[in-house]
Amino acid sequence: MQLPNDFKTKYQKLLGDDAESFFASLDKETNPGFRINPLKEYMPSEPDNESIEYCQYGYYGDVNGKSVEHQSGAIYSQEPSAMYVGEVADIKPGDYVLDLCAAPGGKTTHVASYMDNQGLLVTNEIDHKRAKVLVENVERFGIRNALILNENPNNLAKHFPRFFDKILIDAPCSGEGMFRKNNDAIQYWNADYPSQCATRQKEIIEQAVKMLKPGGKIIYSTCTFAPEEDEQIVEWMKDTYDFSIDPIKKYEGMLSGKPQWADGNEELANTVRLFPNHFKGEGHFVSKLSSNDEGNAKKIKHRLKSNLSIDDKKLWNEFKEANLNNFDPKHLILFGDQLYTFDNTLPDLKGLKVMRPGLHLGTIKKKRFEPSYALALALHSDEVVNRLEISEDDWKQYVHGDVINCDKDVKKGWYQLICKNQPVGFGKVVNGTIKNFFPKGLRFNVD
Ligand code: SAM
Repeated sequence: MQLPNDFKTKYQKLLGDDAESFFASLDKETNPGFRINPLKEYMPSEPDNESIEYCQYGYYGDVNGKSVEHQSGAIYSQEPSAMYVGEVADIKPGDYVLDLCAAPGGKTTHVASYMDNQGLLVTNEIDHKRAKVLVENVERFGIRNALILNENPNNLAKHFPRFFDKILIDAPCSGEGMFRKNNDAIQYWNADYPSQCATRQKEIIEQAVKMLKPGGKIIYSTCTFAPEEDEQIVEWMKDTYDFSIDPIKKYEGMLSGKPQWADGNEELANTVRLFPNHFKGEGHFVSKLSSNDEGNAKKIKHRLKSNLSIDDKKLWNEFKEANLNNFDPKHLILFGDQLYTFDNTLPDLKGLKVMRPGLHLGTIKKKRFEPSYALALALHSDEVVNRLEISEDDWKQYVHGDVINCDKDVKKGWYQLICKNQPVGFGKVVNGTIKNFFPKGLRFNVD
């Protein structure tokens, strides 16, 4: 790999004897990985792949993006180093969590794995195109307790003062740790880039701190080696606000953060650095900070409220009674003709760019209700009246958008379609055919 000269000089100075093996590791193959999804009722049978010691759901190995397992959200492709962030976050069911820089959704889906749909996960992405991908991944994963936003941190901070127990800042960075995974990252790099990124990181953190409950935790991570964006940012946070740096467990190959690359504060060694010449993964930095603020959380003045008319409610209830069991979300909200569940502890969302206020249930049509793809992927077997097994060949036709056939005896109605044990979408059976409700924008050709 042709590394920029300034990059080589910088890391020769910082790493000394370790520099040559570091540069050489950037020419080696990457190590792909994936996590299995505990929110799905049937986890894929224990993969043959080697499991990842520090991540409960993680494995080494490649994921086929056009497989049933991927489309149904039973697995999520993620680089092994990135998996340590979701573990360090130590999220519990019931937590109020903000994932501030969330797309495409690696950390969001990871922390959701530990929430069991309890508590609130606000997942935000500033870039609209990327926010759409975040929506896809959240829905595929079957997450029910996520509010998905497309906002800048400043505007978010106005709506969620002192609101979250834990905030993940997986910061936009100079991406040095991704050089070998994504060669483009080298093109953006110049000697000043890390300090430019650091300025943006401070702006993001400044807003994040306003949203943290007293005593809450910030998990700050990057995929760069640059001290300006790693130890020096954590040092700045400590100097500017009242935080302690939590110790993070180091597994084999994980190194401590380097105090000498910032102001020498030994607490910085509590952070973690992942270098590809020591660790089986890409470059990463992870830190966890606890707020020492002992103030009170802020009371919310205006909460989000339901806005359903009696007629709309009736259409949903008719669908629910005919098709669902043990699934009765209490709080429902309409955005246009789209029906969602929502968390009634949320503030009013006026003035925020909302991608999904909660789990998408479906569309209110003139005289009927049409269930959503997200609902099909979130429901477990005891929550659906009609389920229909389809073969992998039928699945290929389904994700391509074609009508598929079924037995003439199958009675008319909505069915959650199941392939290889996993829900893959809804279909409507009429006279031996299954009308296709796989979303148009997600259709793909397998062969
Ligand atoms: N957490 C993601 C995951 O695990 O899949 C990866 C996030 S990526 C490292 C950083 C994200 O920050 C990008 O999606 C980028 O669009 C977003 N971003 C860029 N500028 C930002 C800003 N000023 N405020 C907040 N987010 C920003």
